[in-house]
Amino acid sequence: MNLYCISHKFLYETEKLLMLFFPLEKNTVLNEFNEDSGDYFYTEIIRGAEAVTFKTAFSYKGKTLQDEKTLTNDDCTDEEYELLSSGYVLLKEVCGFSPDWGMLTGVRPSKLIMNKMTETDEDTARDYFINHFFADPQKTELALDVAKSEIGIIRENGENTFSLYVSIPFCPSRCSYCSFVSHSISTDSAKKLIPEYVNKLCEEIVFTAEKAKENGLILTSVYWGGGTPTTLEADELDRVLTVIEDNFDLSNCGEYTVEAGRPDTVTREKLEVLKRHNVGRISINPQTFSDGVLRAVGRRHTADLTEEKYFLAREIGFDSINMDLIAGLPTDTVDGFRRSLDRAIELGADNITVHTLALKRSSTIVTENESASVSAEGVAQMLDYSHKALRANGYHPYYMYRQSKALGNFENVGWCKKNKECKYNVLMMEEYQHILSVGAGSVTKLLSPGIEKIERIFNYKFPFEYISRFPELLGKKERISTFFSEYK
Ligand code: SF4
Repeated sequence: MNLYCISHKFLYETEKLLMLFFPLEKNTVLNEFNEDSGDYFYTEIIRGAEAVTFKTAFSYKGKTLQDEKTLTNDDCTDEEYELLSSGYVLLKEVCGFSPDWGMLTGVRPSKLIMNKMTETDEDTARDYFINHFFADPQKTELALDVAKSEIGIIRENGENTFSLYVSIPFCPSRCSYCSFVSHSISTDSAKKLIPEYVNKLCEEIVFTAEKAKENGLILTSVYWGGGTPTTLEADELDRVLTVIEDNFDLSNCGEYTVEAGRPDTVTREKLEVLKRHNVGRISINPQTFSDGVLRAVGRRHTADLTEEKYFLAREIGFDSINMDLIAGLPTDTVDGFRRSLDRAIELGADNITVHTLALKRSSTIVTENESASVSAEGVAQMLDYSHKALRANGYHPYYMYRQSKALGNFENVGWCKKNKECKYNVLMMEEYQHILSVGAGSVTKLLSPGIEKIERIFNYKFPFEYISRFPELLGKKERISTFFSEYK
Protein backbone atom coordinates (compact mmCIF):
# COMPACT_ATOMS: atom_id res chain seq x y z
CA MET A 1 0.00 0.00 0.00
CA ASN A 2 1.32 3.45 -0.84
CA LEU A 3 1.20 5.84 2.06
CA TYR A 4 1.38 9.62 1.75
CA CYS A 5 2.03 11.71 4.85
CA ILE A 6 2.29 15.27 3.62
CA SER A 7 3.23 18.14 5.94
CA HIS A 8 2.71 16.35 9.20
CA LYS A 9 4.66 14.25 11.69
CA PHE A 10 2.09 11.50 12.26
CA LEU A 11 3.64 8.82 10.05
CA TYR A 12 3.86 6.25 12.87
CA GLU A 13 0.26 6.89 13.95
CA THR A 14 -0.99 6.77 10.35
CA GLU A 15 0.72 3.43 9.80
CA LYS A 16 -0.82 2.06 13.00
CA LEU A 17 -4.24 3.19 11.79
CA LEU A 18 -3.72 1.45 8.46
CA MET A 19 -2.65 -1.71 10.29
CA LEU A 20 -6.10 -1.92 11.87
CA PHE A 21 -7.42 -2.73 8.41
CA PHE A 22 -4.34 -4.34 6.81
CA PRO A 23 -2.38 -5.95 9.66
CA LEU A 24 0.23 -7.73 7.54
CA GLU A 25 0.57 -5.25 4.69
CA LYS A 26 3.91 -3.55 4.06
CA ASN A 27 3.59 0.13 3.26
CA THR A 28 5.69 2.29 0.97
CA VAL A 29 5.96 5.86 2.18
CA LEU A 30 5.89 8.34 -0.73
CA ASN A 31 6.08 12.12 -0.87
CA GLU A 32 5.08 12.82 -4.48
CA PHE A 33 1.47 11.92 -5.18
CA ASN A 34 0.92 9.62 -8.13
CA GLU A 35 -2.67 8.50 -8.63
CA ASP A 36 -1.66 5.67 -10.96
CA SER A 37 0.68 3.93 -8.54
CA GLY A 38 -1.92 1.50 -7.12
CA ASP A 39 -3.75 1.34 -3.79
CA TYR A 40 -2.98 4.30 -1.56
CA PHE A 41 -3.80 6.12 1.66
CA TYR A 42 -3.27 9.86 1.41
CA THR A 43 -3.05 12.22 4.39
CA GLU A 44 -2.14 15.90 4.38
CA ILE A 45 -2.38 18.86 6.74
CA ILE A 46 -2.44 22.40 5.32
CA ARG A 47 -1.91 25.09 7.94
CA GLY A 48 -3.13 28.58 7.11
CA ALA A 49 -2.97 31.85 9.04
CA GLU A 50 -6.45 31.33 10.48
CA ALA A 51 -7.43 27.73 9.75
CA VAL A 52 -6.13 24.19 9.33
CA THR A 53 -7.28 21.87 6.54
CA PHE A 54 -7.12 18.07 6.74
CA LYS A 55 -7.12 16.19 3.44
CA THR A 56 -7.48 12.43 3.34
CA ALA A 57 -8.10 9.95 0.54
CA PHE A 58 -8.16 6.19 0.36
CA SER A 59 -8.09 4.11 -2.78
CA TYR A 60 -8.39 0.33 -2.63
CA LYS A 61 -9.21 -2.17 -5.35
CA GLY A 62 -10.51 0.55 -7.64
CA LYS A 63 -12.76 2.23 -5.04
CA THR A 64 -11.68 5.71 -3.93
CA LEU A 65 -13.11 8.01 -1.28
CA GLN A 66 -11.77 11.36 -0.16
CA ASP A 67 -12.46 13.89 2.53
CA GLU A 68 -11.46 17.44 3.33
CA LYS A 69 -12.30 19.40 6.44
CA THR A 70 -11.21 22.81 7.67
CA LEU A 71 -11.16 24.01 11.26
CA THR A 72 -10.27 27.43 12.58
CA ASN A 73 -7.03 27.53 14.52
CA ASP A 74 -9.03 28.06 17.72
CA ASP A 75 -11.20 24.99 17.11
CA CYS A 76 -8.32 22.76 16.13
CA THR A 77 -6.95 21.50 19.44
CA ASP A 78 -5.75 18.06 18.32
CA GLU A 79 -4.33 17.81 14.80
CA GLU A 80 -3.48 14.14 15.16
CA TYR A 81 -7.03 13.19 16.10
CA GLU A 82 -8.62 15.33 13.38
CA LEU A 83 -6.43 13.79 10.69
CA LEU A 84 -6.69 10.19 11.85
CA SER A 85 -10.42 10.25 12.53
CA SER A 86 -11.06 11.50 8.96
CA GLY A 87 -8.80 8.78 7.61
CA TYR A 88 -10.47 6.14 9.80
CA VAL A 89 -13.92 6.94 8.41
CA LEU A 90 -12.66 6.53 4.83
CA LEU A 91 -10.87 3.25 5.58
CA LYS A 92 -14.00 1.89 7.25
CA GLU A 93 -16.23 2.88 4.33
CA VAL A 94 -14.02 1.42 1.64
CA CYS A 95 -13.09 -1.77 3.54
CA GLY A 96 -16.68 -2.37 4.65
CA PHE A 97 -16.04 -3.19 8.30
CA SER A 98 -15.37 -1.44 11.60
CA PRO A 99 -12.64 -2.72 13.91
CA ASP A 100 -14.11 -3.54 17.34
CA TRP A 101 -11.81 -1.10 19.08
CA GLY A 102 -12.58 1.60 16.49
CA MET A 103 -9.57 3.78 15.80
CA LEU A 104 -7.89 2.94 19.12
CA THR A 105 -4.47 1.56 18.37
CA GLY A 106 -2.81 1.69 21.80
CA VAL A 107 -1.96 -1.31 23.95
CA ARG A 108 -3.75 -0.04 27.06
CA PRO A 109 -7.40 0.82 26.38
CA SER A 110 -8.30 0.24 30.04
CA LYS A 111 -5.74 2.81 31.19
CA LEU A 112 -7.14 5.35 28.74
CA ILE A 113 -10.73 4.85 29.88
CA MET A 114 -9.68 4.80 33.54
CA ASN A 115 -7.95 8.16 33.16
CA LYS A 116 -11.01 9.59 31.41
CA MET A 117 -13.32 8.16 34.08
CA THR A 118 -11.17 9.64 36.85
CA GLU A 119 -11.05 13.07 35.20
CA THR A 120 -14.79 13.11 34.40
CA ASP A 121 -17.29 10.31 35.09
CA GLU A 122 -18.25 6.90 33.78
CA ASP A 123 -20.81 8.11 31.22
CA THR A 124 -18.40 10.65 29.75
CA ALA A 125 -15.71 7.98 29.53
CA ARG A 126 -18.14 5.61 27.78
CA ASP A 127 -19.17 8.30 25.34
CA TYR A 128 -15.48 9.12 24.69
CA PHE A 129 -14.78 5.58 23.56
CA ILE A 130 -17.93 5.07 21.51
CA ASN A 131 -18.33 8.45 19.84
CA HIS A 132 -14.82 9.85 19.80
CA PHE A 133 -12.87 6.68 18.99
CA PHE A 134 -15.73 4.70 17.36
CA ALA A 135 -15.20 1.72 19.70
CA ASP A 136 -17.80 -1.01 19.84
CA PRO A 137 -20.12 -0.62 22.91
CA GLN A 138 -19.32 -4.15 24.15
CA LYS A 139 -15.58 -3.55 24.03
CA THR A 140 -16.16 -0.24 25.78
CA GLU A 141 -17.99 -2.01 28.62
CA LEU A 142 -15.12 -4.51 28.83
CA ALA A 143 -12.59 -1.67 29.14
CA LEU A 144 -14.77 0.00 31.80
CA ASP A 145 -15.09 -3.23 33.80
CA VAL A 146 -11.33 -3.75 33.72
CA ALA A 147 -10.71 -0.12 34.71
CA LYS A 148 -13.10 -0.39 37.66
CA SER A 149 -11.36 -3.53 38.87
CA GLU A 150 -7.93 -1.94 38.47
CA ILE A 151 -8.67 1.30 40.28
CA GLY A 152 -8.61 -0.25 43.78
CA ILE A 153 -5.29 -2.00 43.14
CA ILE A 154 -3.73 1.17 41.75
CA ARG A 155 -4.99 3.36 44.60
CA GLU A 156 -3.59 1.13 47.32
CA ASN A 157 -0.14 1.15 45.74
CA GLY A 158 2.36 3.55 47.34
CA GLU A 159 4.78 5.68 45.27
CA ASN A 160 7.92 4.04 46.67
CA THR A 161 6.89 0.44 46.08
CA PHE A 162 8.21 -1.85 43.38
CA SER A 163 7.88 -5.32 41.91
CA LEU A 164 10.79 -7.57 41.10
CA TYR A 165 10.66 -9.31 37.72
CA VAL A 166 12.88 -12.34 37.15
CA SER A 167 13.41 -13.46 33.57
CA ILE A 168 14.20 -17.08 32.71
CA PRO A 169 14.44 -17.05 28.90
CA PHE A 170 14.54 -20.82 28.36
CA CYS A 171 11.87 -23.30 27.30
CA PRO A 172 11.90 -27.03 26.61
CA SER A 173 11.07 -26.39 22.93
CA ARG A 174 9.81 -23.45 20.92
CA CYS A 175 6.09 -23.03 20.24
CA SER A 176 5.38 -22.01 16.66
CA TYR A 177 3.50 -18.83 17.70
CA CYS A 178 6.21 -17.66 20.11
CA SER A 179 7.71 -14.23 19.58
CA PHE A 180 9.55 -14.00 22.90
CA VAL A 181 13.29 -14.17 23.25
CA SER A 182 13.22 -17.67 24.61
CA HIS A 183 15.82 -20.33 23.93
CA SER A 184 14.75 -23.87 23.41
CA ILE A 185 16.96 -26.12 25.51
CA SER A 186 16.41 -28.94 23.04
CA THR A 187 19.85 -27.97 21.71
CA ASP A 188 22.98 -28.60 23.77
CA SER A 189 24.36 -25.11 23.15
CA ALA A 190 21.37 -23.44 24.83
CA LYS A 191 21.28 -25.96 27.67
CA LYS A 192 24.97 -25.39 28.42
CA LEU A 193 24.29 -21.70 29.04
CA ILE A 194 21.95 -22.31 31.96
CA PRO A 195 24.50 -22.85 34.82
CA GLU A 196 26.39 -19.64 33.99
CA TYR A 197 23.10 -17.83 33.38
CA VAL A 198 21.95 -18.77 36.90
CA ASN A 199 25.29 -17.55 38.35
CA LYS A 200 24.95 -14.17 36.68
CA LEU A 201 21.27 -13.92 37.56
CA CYS A 202 22.11 -14.43 41.23
CA GLU A 203 24.77 -11.71 41.02
CA GLU A 204 22.31 -9.35 39.40
CA ILE A 205 19.73 -10.07 42.11
CA VAL A 206 22.24 -9.14 44.83
CA PHE A 207 23.17 -5.95 42.94
CA THR A 208 19.52 -4.99 42.37
CA ALA A 209 18.59 -5.63 46.02
CA GLU A 210 21.35 -3.17 47.01
CA LYS A 211 19.86 -0.56 44.70
CA ALA A 212 16.39 -1.11 46.16
CA LYS A 213 17.76 -0.68 49.70
CA GLU A 214 19.81 2.40 48.84
CA ASN A 215 16.74 4.09 47.43
CA GLY A 216 14.27 3.09 50.14
CA LEU A 217 12.06 1.05 47.81
CA ILE A 218 9.54 -1.40 49.23
CA LEU A 219 9.04 -4.74 47.47
CA THR A 220 5.36 -5.71 47.15
CA SER A 221 5.47 -8.50 44.56
CA VAL A 222 7.81 -10.87 42.79
CA TYR A 223 7.05 -12.28 39.36
CA TRP A 224 9.09 -14.87 37.44
CA GLY A 225 8.37 -15.04 33.72
CA GLY A 226 10.19 -15.88 30.55
CA GLY A 227 10.42 -18.25 28.78
CA THR A 228 9.37 -20.87 31.24
CA PRO A 229 10.99 -20.45 34.66
CA THR A 230 10.39 -24.10 35.57
CA THR A 231 12.75 -25.08 32.76
CA LEU A 232 15.37 -24.66 35.52
CA GLU A 233 16.07 -27.74 37.60
CA ALA A 234 14.75 -27.90 41.18
CA ASP A 235 18.17 -27.10 42.71
CA GLU A 236 18.60 -24.10 40.39
CA LEU A 237 15.15 -22.80 41.32
CA ASP A 238 16.01 -23.31 44.97
CA ARG A 239 19.23 -21.35 44.60
CA VAL A 240 17.65 -18.34 42.90
CA LEU A 241 14.69 -18.29 45.31
CA THR A 242 17.11 -18.37 48.23
CA VAL A 243 19.22 -15.52 46.85
CA ILE A 244 16.07 -13.41 46.50
CA GLU A 245 15.02 -14.20 50.09
CA ASP A 246 18.47 -13.49 51.48
CA ASN A 247 18.84 -10.14 49.76
CA PHE A 248 15.42 -8.51 49.48
CA ASP A 249 13.14 -7.55 52.34
CA LEU A 250 10.07 -9.67 51.60
CA SER A 251 8.12 -8.58 54.67
CA ASN A 252 5.78 -6.43 52.54
CA CYS A 253 5.65 -8.81 49.60
CA GLY A 254 2.02 -9.85 49.26
CA GLU A 255 2.27 -11.73 46.00
CA TYR A 256 4.83 -14.17 44.61
CA THR A 257 4.25 -15.65 41.17
CA VAL A 258 6.30 -18.14 39.20
CA GLU A 259 5.12 -19.06 35.72
CA ALA A 260 5.27 -22.84 35.39
CA GLY A 261 3.73 -22.37 31.97
CA ARG A 262 4.76 -25.54 30.22
CA PRO A 263 3.34 -28.64 31.93
CA ASP A 264 6.24 -30.65 30.49
CA THR A 265 8.62 -28.78 32.82
CA VAL A 266 6.63 -29.27 36.01
CA THR A 267 7.68 -31.92 38.56
CA ARG A 268 6.63 -32.61 42.14
CA GLU A 269 10.12 -31.70 43.31
CA LYS A 270 10.06 -28.29 41.58
CA LEU A 271 6.58 -27.47 42.88
CA GLU A 272 7.65 -28.40 46.41
CA VAL A 273 10.66 -26.10 46.12
CA LEU A 274 8.39 -23.24 45.04
CA LYS A 275 5.97 -23.93 47.87
CA ARG A 276 8.76 -24.08 50.44
CA HIS A 277 9.87 -20.63 49.35
CA ASN A 278 6.34 -19.19 49.73
CA VAL A 279 5.52 -18.86 46.05
CA GLY A 280 1.77 -18.42 46.17
CA ARG A 281 0.75 -18.16 42.55
CA ILE A 282 1.73 -20.20 39.52
CA SER A 283 0.64 -20.54 35.90
CA ILE A 284 0.07 -23.90 34.28
CA ASN A 285 -0.84 -23.07 30.73
CA PRO A 286 -2.89 -25.39 28.55
CA GLN A 287 -3.19 -22.87 25.66
CA THR A 288 -5.74 -25.42 24.37
CA PHE A 289 -7.08 -28.74 25.61
CA SER A 290 -6.90 -30.24 22.12
CA ASP A 291 -3.92 -32.55 21.55
CA GLY A 292 -4.15 -32.01 17.79
CA VAL A 293 -3.80 -28.24 18.18
CA LEU A 294 -0.96 -28.67 20.70
CA ARG A 295 0.88 -30.78 18.13
CA ALA A 296 0.18 -28.22 15.40
CA VAL A 297 1.84 -25.44 17.42
CA GLY A 298 4.82 -27.49 18.60
CA ARG A 299 3.88 -27.81 22.28
CA ARG A 300 5.40 -31.08 23.37
CA HIS A 301 2.77 -32.03 25.92
CA THR A 302 -0.76 -33.33 25.95
CA ALA A 303 -3.92 -31.94 27.49
CA ASP A 304 -3.88 -34.85 29.96
CA LEU A 305 -0.43 -33.82 31.14
CA THR A 306 -1.70 -30.26 31.78
CA GLU A 307 -4.48 -31.67 33.95
CA GLU A 308 -2.12 -34.04 35.76
CA LYS A 309 0.25 -31.19 36.67
CA TYR A 310 -2.64 -28.94 37.63
CA PHE A 311 -3.97 -31.56 40.09
CA LEU A 312 -0.45 -32.12 41.41
CA ALA A 313 -0.11 -28.39 42.11
CA ARG A 314 -3.47 -28.39 43.92
CA GLU A 315 -2.38 -31.41 45.97
CA ILE A 316 0.81 -29.58 46.99
CA GLY A 317 -1.33 -26.68 48.14
CA PHE A 318 -1.27 -24.00 45.43
CA ASP A 319 -4.52 -22.06 45.74
CA SER A 320 -3.89 -19.48 43.05
CA ILE A 321 -3.36 -21.01 39.63
CA ASN A 322 -3.57 -19.23 36.31
CA MET A 323 -4.29 -20.95 33.01
CA ASP A 324 -3.55 -19.24 29.69
CA LEU A 325 -5.65 -20.03 26.64
CA ILE A 326 -5.12 -18.69 23.12
CA ALA A 327 -7.93 -17.86 20.71
CA GLY A 328 -7.03 -18.39 17.06
CA LEU A 329 -4.39 -21.13 17.21
CA PRO A 330 -3.75 -22.92 13.91
CA THR A 331 -6.14 -25.85 13.28
CA ASP A 332 -8.33 -24.87 16.24
CA THR A 333 -12.07 -24.30 15.73
CA VAL A 334 -14.66 -22.24 17.54
CA ASP A 335 -16.09 -25.41 19.10
CA GLY A 336 -12.61 -26.62 20.02
CA PHE A 337 -11.88 -23.33 21.77
CA ARG A 338 -15.19 -23.50 23.62
CA ARG A 339 -14.35 -26.98 24.88
CA SER A 340 -10.92 -25.75 26.07
CA LEU A 341 -12.42 -22.82 27.91
CA ASP A 342 -15.14 -24.97 29.46
CA ARG A 343 -12.50 -27.39 30.70
CA ALA A 344 -10.39 -24.63 32.29
CA ILE A 345 -13.54 -23.39 34.06
CA GLU A 346 -14.48 -26.93 35.17
CA LEU A 347 -11.00 -27.44 36.58
CA GLY A 348 -11.55 -24.29 38.64
CA ALA A 349 -8.48 -22.29 37.62
CA ASP A 350 -8.37 -19.13 39.75
CA ASN A 351 -7.24 -16.98 36.82
CA ILE A 352 -7.96 -17.67 33.17
CA THR A 353 -6.11 -15.43 30.74
CA VAL A 354 -7.56 -15.44 27.26
CA HIS A 355 -5.03 -14.32 24.67
CA THR A 356 -5.65 -13.57 21.02
CA LEU A 357 -3.09 -15.13 18.71
CA ALA A 358 -0.67 -12.49 17.43
CA LEU A 359 1.05 -13.13 14.12
CA LYS A 360 4.47 -11.68 14.90
CA ARG A 361 7.12 -11.89 12.25
CA SER A 362 9.57 -13.54 14.66
CA SER A 363 7.28 -16.54 15.13
CA THR A 364 7.49 -19.59 12.89
CA ILE A 365 3.72 -19.50 12.35
CA VAL A 366 4.24 -16.40 10.24
CA THR A 367 7.33 -17.57 8.45
CA GLU A 368 5.94 -21.03 7.70
CA ASN A 369 2.19 -21.29 7.81
CA GLU A 370 0.36 -18.11 8.57
CA SER A 371 -2.80 -19.16 6.75
CA ALA A 372 -3.41 -22.05 9.15
CA SER A 373 -4.62 -19.80 11.97
CA VAL A 374 -8.29 -19.08 12.60
CA SER A 375 -10.04 -16.18 10.83
CA ALA A 376 -10.74 -12.92 12.66
CA GLU A 377 -14.48 -13.77 12.62
CA GLY A 378 -13.72 -17.11 14.27
CA VAL A 379 -11.63 -15.38 16.93
CA ALA A 380 -14.45 -12.89 17.54
CA GLN A 381 -16.82 -15.81 18.24
CA MET A 382 -14.28 -17.42 20.57
CA LEU A 383 -13.82 -14.22 22.56
CA ASP A 384 -17.52 -13.57 22.67
CA TYR A 385 -18.07 -17.04 24.11
CA SER A 386 -15.28 -16.57 26.64
CA HIS A 387 -16.85 -13.34 27.94
CA LYS A 388 -20.24 -14.98 28.45
CA ALA A 389 -18.97 -18.25 29.90
CA LEU A 390 -16.45 -16.66 32.25
CA ARG A 391 -18.90 -14.11 33.60
CA ALA A 392 -21.54 -16.83 34.07
CA ASN A 393 -19.04 -18.79 36.15
CA GLY A 394 -18.03 -16.01 38.53
CA TYR A 395 -14.95 -14.63 36.78
CA HIS A 396 -14.45 -10.92 36.11
CA PRO A 397 -11.97 -9.18 33.78
CA TYR A 398 -9.21 -7.53 35.81
CA TYR A 399 -6.48 -6.62 33.36
CA MET A 400 -6.20 -6.28 29.64
CA TYR A 401 -3.74 -5.35 26.95
CA ARG A 402 -3.54 -5.36 23.19
CA GLN A 403 -0.68 -6.56 21.05
CA SER A 404 0.22 -5.48 17.58
CA LYS A 405 -0.62 -8.05 14.90
CA ALA A 406 -3.23 -9.77 17.07
CA LEU A 407 -5.84 -11.46 14.88
CA GLY A 408 -8.71 -9.01 14.33
CA ASN A 409 -6.84 -6.47 16.50
CA PHE A 410 -8.47 -8.12 19.47
CA GLU A 411 -7.30 -8.02 23.05
CA ASN A 412 -5.80 -10.25 25.75
CA VAL A 413 -7.84 -10.33 28.95
CA GLY A 414 -6.98 -11.65 32.39
CA TRP A 415 -10.10 -13.02 34.12
CA CYS A 416 -10.18 -14.08 37.75
CA LYS A 417 -12.35 -15.27 40.54
CA LYS A 418 -13.17 -12.80 43.32
CA ASN A 419 -10.05 -11.52 45.14
CA LYS A 420 -7.72 -13.53 42.91
CA GLU A 421 -6.38 -10.63 40.86
CA CYS A 422 -2.66 -10.71 40.14
CA LYS A 423 -1.69 -7.22 41.28
CA TYR A 424 1.64 -7.38 39.48
CA ASN A 425 -0.16 -7.81 36.15
CA VAL A 426 -2.23 -4.69 36.77
CA LEU A 427 0.53 -2.45 38.07
CA MET A 428 3.06 -3.56 35.48
CA MET A 429 0.72 -3.44 32.50
CA GLU A 430 -0.76 -0.06 33.36
CA GLU A 431 2.65 1.31 34.40
CA TYR A 432 1.73 2.36 37.93
CA GLN A 433 4.69 0.89 39.79
CA HIS A 434 8.49 0.73 39.50
CA ILE A 435 9.61 -2.61 38.10
CA LEU A 436 13.14 -3.72 38.90
CA SER A 437 13.96 -6.52 36.51
CA VAL A 438 16.71 -9.11 36.42
CA GLY A 439 17.74 -11.53 33.71
CA ALA A 440 18.12 -11.48 29.94
CA GLY A 441 15.53 -9.59 27.93
CA SER A 442 13.98 -7.95 30.97
CA VAL A 443 13.23 -4.24 31.29
CA THR A 444 13.52 -2.14 34.43
CA LYS A 445 10.92 0.65 34.55
CA LEU A 446 11.36 3.66 36.80
CA LEU A 447 8.54 6.15 37.31
CA SER A 448 9.05 9.79 38.15
CA PRO A 449 6.81 11.30 40.88
CA GLY A 450 3.29 11.71 39.46
CA ILE A 451 4.33 9.33 36.64
CA GLU A 452 5.16 12.18 34.32
CA LYS A 453 8.10 10.25 32.97
CA ILE A 454 8.92 6.56 32.66
CA GLU A 455 12.53 5.57 32.21
CA ARG A 456 13.46 2.12 30.96
CA ILE A 457 16.71 0.22 31.38
CA PHE A 458 16.97 -2.66 28.94
CA ASN A 459 18.92 -5.76 29.86
CA TYR A 460 20.71 -7.53 27.03
CA LYS A 461 18.24 -9.66 25.16
CA PHE A 462 19.95 -12.98 24.62
CA PRO A 463 21.39 -15.19 27.38
CA PHE A 464 24.81 -15.38 25.70
CA GLU A 465 25.03 -11.59 25.46
CA TYR A 466 23.70 -11.23 29.00
CA ILE A 467 26.50 -13.45 30.31
CA SER A 468 29.33 -12.05 28.20
CA ARG A 469 28.44 -8.37 28.73
CA PHE A 470 27.46 -8.67 32.37
CA PRO A 471 29.83 -5.97 33.72
CA GLU A 472 28.40 -3.48 31.19
CA LEU A 473 24.92 -4.46 32.25
CA LEU A 474 25.61 -3.65 35.89
CA GLY A 475 27.08 -0.35 34.72
CA LYS A 476 23.78 0.47 32.99
CA LYS A 477 21.85 -0.39 36.12
CA GLU A 478 23.78 2.18 38.16
CA ARG A 479 21.24 4.49 36.57
CA ILE A 480 18.67 3.26 39.12
CA SER A 481 20.35 5.28 41.85
CA THR A 482 20.98 8.38 39.76
CA PHE A 483 17.35 8.31 38.61
CA PHE A 484 16.04 8.41 42.18
CA SER A 485 18.60 10.97 43.31
CA GLU A 486 17.24 13.36 40.64
CA TYR A 487 13.88 13.38 42.40
CA LYS A 488 15.06 13.78 46.01
S1 SF4 B 1 6.28 -21.72 26.34
FE1 SF4 B 1 5.91 -19.54 26.00
S2 SF4 B 1 7.92 -18.56 25.97
FE2 SF4 B 1 8.23 -20.77 25.74
S3 SF4 B 1 8.37 -21.11 23.53
FE3 SF4 B 1 6.23 -21.45 24.13
S4 SF4 B 1 5.24 -19.42 23.87
FE4 SF4 B 1 7.47 -19.09 23.86
